[in-house]
Amino acid sequence: MGGVRIAVVGAGIAGLACARELARADAQVTVFERSRGLGGRLGTRRQGNLAFDHGAQFITARSRSFVKYAEIAGRAGVLGRWSPRILEDDRRWEAPIDEWYVGQPGMSALVRPMSRNVDVRSGVGIHEIIQSQRGWELQSDSGRQDHIFDAIAVAVPAPQALTLLGPHGRTFRHLHEVSMAPCWAGMFAFDQPVETGADVHRWTQGPITWAACDSSKPNRPPGLHCWVVHASIAWSRQHLEDDAVAVAQLLLHEFATATGARLPAPAHAQAHRWRHAFVEQPLGLPCLVDEEIAAGACGDWCIAPRVEAAFESGRTLAHSLLPMVGLSMPALLR
Ligand SMILES: Cc1cc2nc3c(=O)[nH]c(=O)nc-3n(C[C@H](O)[C@H](O)[C@H](O)COP(=O)(O)OP(=O)(O)OC[C@H]3O[C@@H](n4cnc5c(N)ncnc54)[C@H](O)[C@@H]3O)c2cc1C
Repeated sequence: MGGVRIAVVGAGIAGLACARELARADAQVTVFERSRGLGGRLGTRRQGNLAFDHGAQFITARSRSFVKYAEIAGRAGVLGRWSPRILEDDRRWEAPIDEWYVGQPGMSALVRPMSRNVDVRSGVGIHEIIQSQRGWELQSDSGRQDHIFDAIAVAVPAPQALTLLGPHGRTFRHLHEVSMAPCWAGMFAFDQPVETGADVHRWTQGPITWAACDSSKPNRPPGLHCWVVHASIAWSRQHLEDDAVAVAQLLLHEFATATGARLPAPAHAQAHRWRHAFVEQPLGLPCLVDEEIAAGACGDWCIAPRVEAAFESGRTLAHSLLPMVGLSMPALLR
């Protein structure tokens, strides 16, 4: 381990991809994550013996570095191919245009290989970052963190990054240019299979845009039949502050109406609000970095609303920060 200390705020795929690259270049990295679990919007909600991928549904891999990471995840057994039967409005797709991959046993497993060799402090929300003569200090819910860091990477959705980085220089004013949209996700489990004519439904209009049978993904727990339903951005905005129990019932109703399926009473029904779900207006740069203060920000919001974009943004930020702290990536690992 080298003597250079770097803090990463946020353990979604952007933060962990950034942390992994920094650690590979011998930095001593600490990741601070507000939630108990890792993965952020690449998340799996567990409830007893049930599991729902309530955020990202699948990934595609196109760039060389993400394809390489997908191979590592595949070898580690945390990534599998998903070939669902798809209906878009009334049109049947024989196969997705790209290959679709999913984390297994849940989407969040995809980040597991990234968190090795990195000190991850979960359940620690950072609400202020302070620049002093000695470096960066972090103020968390439970007080000031012990360490002083030589550099900082903020890997949280743009509006939250603005709160942390806004006071630290002109570079971060660009965060105002980014906009993100919400999404309500419904999670439903049924005792019997629900036949809707497909494993995945997509709609281009109406209150819901997506419904998928999680249980059709590889290596899911046997037993109940789990479905995830996503509301459209417009519907989610309209119901943004509604009660989650009421939203779950509304989404169940919309799911039945849109598929025309006769749904049995669900054994489990729950809704989750993603306040900053999708990037509507991205930054248009791979990351934001201020060389003078050795601080930067990354996330899907830099490039596009996709897991792969978040991964690329995190990696790019790591490569930008390394020379600022006198480190470089060994040629063999580039
Ligand atoms: C409903 C939904 C469906 C989606 N479907 C797909 C899909 O099918 N395919 C696809 O490629 N992409 C999909 N996406 C997009 C994809 O999930 C995101 O692009 C990607 O996961 C973003 O990763 P990230 O690391 O940039 O941000 P996040 O995953 O949001 O990670 C940020 C992390 O920072 C933490 N955090 C925030 N503030 C603080 C703080 N102050 N202190 C400490 N920690 C903090 C959060 O808890 C979170 O863990 C979907 C997203 C949603 C919401």
